[in-house]
Amino acid sequence: MKKHNFYAGPSILPAYTIEKTIEGIKDFAGMGLSVLEISHRSKQFVAVVDQAVALFKELLSIPEGYSVLFLGGGASMQFCMVPYNLLATKATYLNTGEWSKKAIKEAKLFGEVDIVASSEDKNFNYIPRGYTIPTDADYFHITSNNTIFGTQIHEDPVSPVPLIADMSSDIFSRPIDVSKYAIIYGGAQKNLAPSGVAFVIIKNDILGKVDRMIPTMLKYETHISKESMFNTPPVLPIFSALQTLQWLKDQGGVAEIEKINIKKSNLLYDEIERNSLFKPTIPAKEDRSRMNVCFVMNEGFEHLEKPFNDFATEKGMVGIKGHRSVGGFRASLYNALPYASVEALVAVMQEFEKMNK
Ligand SMILES: *Cc1c(COP(=O)(O)O)cnc(C)c1O
Repeated sequence: MKKHNFYAGPSILPAYTIEKTIEGIKDFAGMGLSVLEISHRSKQFVAVVDQAVALFKELLSIPEGYSVLFLGGGASMQFCMVPYNLLATKATYLNTGEWSKKAIKEAKLFGEVDIVASSEDKNFNYIPRGYTIPTDADYFHITSNNTIFGTQIHEDPVSPVPLIADMSSDIFSRPIDVSKYAIIYGGAQKNLAPSGVAFVIIKNDILGKVDRMIPTMLKYETHISKESMFNTPPVLPIFSALQTLQWLKDQGGVAEIEKINIKKSNLLYDEIERNSLFKPTIPAKEDRSRMNVCFVMNEGFEHLEKPFNDFATEKGMVGIKGHRSVGGFRASLYNALPYASVEALVAVMQEFEKMNK
């Protein structure tokens, strides 16, 4: 039976990426060798990194003065690298979920941390608004898409201090104005590549403002000056990322993929609202994530949670069980998830409603 992959991460990749990765594992760039067994300094692999950087710049319209890095350690390593490199006295964070909290915890190791606003009072089911960002902070950090709770900041915020965003789970899902950000980072395993690599888009002139000693590997300058080749980078995930970037370009880029993402998420949210058995966990439409759609059983139908999970699993829906801190269900609709998979999930929800009337 056809499986529909709604996993939150690692998650669905384009079939193109999987096929091209298999090809590269067997024979890379006509070398007669696998991409797994060649020098990362070979001209063929250096070309992979160069092309991936060029496609990042092209697809996201990254202006002059920014570098694109591919680093190990995942997004979680960036939780510490950001304050290590940038927090001189005080940083400000917007607390919108588990990943924000993890980033805040690391920042506290390096200086004062001011939480400008938090949605923790309502189990992170909204995006705070109307807060003031102190102008004496070294930077302001946001999590643009909250993978666990299913909220998303749809507009690029305006910040009087350098703006830093964890975009692990919505990078390349929509156009963004990179010039508004000092750093955009994320783990690749949600919308780009297999796990093992983090991307960092960094404005070069924000560095050099802290006095502390920074270990070589944790210093952005090290990786900028060596173009992600200071040490052996995660070769295979970078190779796969390049395939996804090429696929994305073939789809018409981020403006086109955003249109499809809007259609996919509207289809599912509309069904959640219509279907008497379910309700969304995020009340405000403008705060709902287009990548991670969270929903629970409606009042009176709580006992049907496990039966629905079993029924959906039988029908080929994979990975829709909600995160333990929210419960219910979460369907992740990343770029590579076909519209037809959302239609299939909606059909399963409708069938289940008929069976339980
Ligand atoms: C998955 C995720 C992370 C963690 O990424 P790792 O690469 O596993 O460290 C951080 N932030 C967000 C928003 C995520 O979705």
